[in-house]
Amino acid sequence: MKVSKKDIEQRMARFEEVCRKSGAKLTHQRLEIFREVAQTGEHPDAEKVFQNVRKRMPTVSMDTVYRTLWWLKDLGLITTLGPPRERARFDANLSRHHHFMCTQCGLTRDFLSDELDCLELPDSVLSIGHAEKTQVEVKGLCLKCAADEKPVAKY
Ligand SMILES: [Zn+2]
Ligand SMILES: [Zn+2]
Repeated sequence: MKVSKKDIEQRMARFEEVCRKSGAKLTHQRLEIFREVAQTGEHPDAEKVFQNVRKRMPTVSMDTVYRTLWWLKDLGLITTLGPPRERARFDANLSRHHHFMCTQCGLTRDFLSDELDCLELPDSVLSIGHAEKTQVEVKGLCLKCAADEKPVAKY
């Protein structure tokens, strides 16, 4: 899924603004790592970000990428999805949206739904804690994986 040029520009501008306000140093590495997440709708994990950034900056280390991604999350510039921290995927789309995740290939895509945005939570949630946001994760097979999973040929 392509992120529009305007969205990318907005994200980069926000990044610079947040860095400036928090007094963080805006290094070339940090900029490139953020750009990598900001320009894609793929929801990459740290490994994927590392692979792509390394093409432009061969000196970058996996450790730097990993630390920078979590630093960006602490600054509120990106969010993560999926519970396991070590395979967390990163998302620069901070506006309200939901996810479809393919259980086979890991493809993750955003989708919008006014209905899901207004999802009413059951009372049982109140006995657990206070809800801040509700985001739906749909899991299943993407169209490509579903097409690959052809029924066994009969002889
Ligand atoms: Zn798939
Ligand atoms: Zn997303």
